[in-house]
Amino acid sequence: MTRARETGLNKESAWKGLDRKAADLFAREYMTVLGAAKTEREFVDASVAIARERGYKLVDATSLKPLPRGTKFVFVNRGKNAVLVKLGKQPLFEGMNIVAAHVDAPRIDIKQNPLFESTGLAMLQTHYYGGIKKYQWVTIPLALHGVIYDREGKKLELRIGESDGDPVFSISDILPHLGQAQAEKKMSEGVTGEALDVIVGHIPVSSRDEKQPVRAGVVEELVRQFNLDDRSFAAAELELVPAMRPREVGFDKGLMLAYGHDDRICGYSSMRALLDDKEPCERTQMVFLADKEEIGSDGDTGMQSEFLELVVEKLLDAAKEAVSARQVFWNSTALSADVSAAMDPNYLDSFEASNAATIGNGIVITKYTGSRGKSAAHDASAETLHRLIQLLDQNHVRWQVAELGKVDVGGGGTVAKFLSKRGIETLDAGPALLSMHAPQELASKADLYACYLAYRSFLNAPR
Ligand code: MN
Ligand code: MN
Repeated sequence: MTRARETGLNKESAWKGLDRKAADLFAREYMTVLGAAKTEREFVDASVAIARERGYKLVDATSLKPLPRGTKFVFVNRGKNAVLVKLGKQPLFEGMNIVAAHVDAPRIDIKQNPLFESTGLAMLQTHYYGGIKKYQWVTIPLALHGVIYDREGKKLELRIGESDGDPVFSISDILPHLGQAQAEKKMSEGVTGEALDVIVGHIPVSSRDEKQPVRAGVVEELVRQFNLDDRSFAAAELELVPAMRPREVGFDKGLMLAYGHDDRICGYSSMRALLDDKEPCERTQMVFLADKEEIGSDGDTGMQSEFLELVVEKLLDAAKEAVSARQVFWNSTALSADVSAAMDPNYLDSFEASNAATIGNGIVITKYTGSRGKSAAHDASAETLHRLIQLLDQNHVRWQVAELGKVDVGGGGTVAKFLSKRGIETLDAGPALLSMHAPQELASKADLYACYLAYRSFLNAPR
């Protein structure tokens, strides 16, 4: 019998028996990357840099050139999706161990014709991305990140609001004195999508015949600082993200408050699980860092795209294995590494305690996702669950089983169903968060480390 079972399923803290020094160091390294990489592009760039430092070779999957010699590769898809591969001694036909996480996070995007002036303020029109509670994004400092082309056609990567000398941006909210009508609305309607326009300027230009002098002032600044003008936004991809740094929480510093734990906590821990193991492996190992999960995994950089097929075809070709990617998938196993909901002490009513996750109790194994009668669920098999639980027990990794909230209270999905659709045997497993999808989410250092150990065991597991 394992320790977890002796004390009751789901009830033991991952802090018990934890190597505190190692977990603390790992958490610090994670928070540094999380604070520096706040968009899918930035996280992919950071992952590629870390992988290359560890000897992984960057491969252009769109090129007809053969793969370079070696066993460790990183493939990048349009800057927003990365795939790290460590080839095993076994033929690819026998399958891979895959951990798939997503690197996009809820945020507020800038529209393509955004700049306007109202009431002495220059503003940008926005359109939110992913499932946000809109009222949480007003009155906080926001940073502007993303790609835009300047007036000479040069591609710029903006990152404004992260350094001490930088300005930040902010969305206003109505004062309580005049907020009675707002307060009487449903919370989901109190702050609307069109009320999320962001303030970006305030000083008018002095020219007397200028009809929109504050807007004109911002355009002057754009030209002066970046060689951009108001037309540049048409071909831009700009994202507003919280301008805050990751912080430790509590007198004991056991929790981490940060933007983007969902799902960079899995992206980082799975990537490190792959990179930290320097021994050659038997089965091929893969970490898939997907984009667009928060809006349904669509598009050419999401889990539904066929970039995975393209990468596997390249690998098969280089290994001179005459089998299809489909055959590789049907022999492969995957963890869909994504976050779960921790029981919230302020909202216990939303959870059925015996099947809910507790923050700090280790990696959460989720048999099925979906909503209502498991609609749109990925539903893993008993055999798959049994194999993972056995593996985690053998490796003394703390785990718990949970589903997302009470039956019929809500629901959600992950990339799991897009892996299993390909024939990959898939199970959801990741840490539980508090305040998921808020500008600042809470995660446990003990869970972060448990996930790292779990992903490491999984990547190295025989079939
Ligand atoms: Mn997620
Ligand atoms: Mn999410």
